Amino acid sequence: PIENQEVNKMQLSELFFEREKGILIVISGPSCAGKGSVCKIICQKNPDLRLSISETTRKPRNYEKQGRDYFYVSKESFETRIEQGQYLEYATVYENYYGTPKDYVENLLESGYDVILEIDIQGAAKVRSNFKEGIYIFIVPPSMQELRRRIEERGTESTEQMEMRLNCAYEEMRNADDYSYIVINDDLEDAARRVQSIITAEKCRTERLKNKIEDILGR
Ligand code: 5GP
Repeated sequence: PIENQEVNKMQLSELFFEREKGILIVISGPSCAGKGSVCKIICQKNPDLRLSISETTRKPRNYEKQGRDYFYVSKESFETRIEQGQYLEYATVYENYYGTPKDYVENLLESGYDVILEIDIQGAAKVRSNFKEGIYIFIVPPSMQELRRRIEERGTESTEQMEMRLNCAYEEMRNADDYSYIVINDDLEDAARRVQSIITAEKCRTERLKNKIEDILGR
């Protein structure tokens, strides 16, 4: 309805007028679609971009590091932090908890950093209900056969868990149209370039640069 559109427009302009806060970028997609690799590439190229490090109750893979890939925590401490309201969002994914630390992300945004959340579709839906102005990008594999090949090649999960991730992938793919952008990851460097282009274009949106015009005019 028109009334709602007016409210959204007002909230957007207020938000962008008052300061130069960072942009929130949310990236989702099935397991092994290449979200992590894409995020790594674009973070290396953008000093103003920070990847939010989630907390999880999943066990670390042998190449993962505490505090770099995730903060690995116990189920008990995760549940305590849920009760304390310390997560911007959290969800149970593939039988483990995953959550985005609220203060960490909000402080980065306030300090002017752009922040990427690499989170599942449930978490993205929660964030979307509060941050309409975020950028929502869905990364997909070129085919489900290729996705299976990548999951098997990574080989970090048991056969049963690989099947669970593949089955979830079908469901997740059906949620792609909740996102503003879809990036098909057939070639990693190319997919990263497309994500970078999306972010660059979003940063040039009129709503985000309105106050710059005032600066240029010297008012
Ligand atoms: P993985 O176990 O492969 O590292 O991650 C499993 C899934 O959990 C991925 O889809 C990943 O995007 C998602 N995930 C990672 N961190 C978070 C988080 O903080 N919140 C939510 N909702 N999902 C997350």
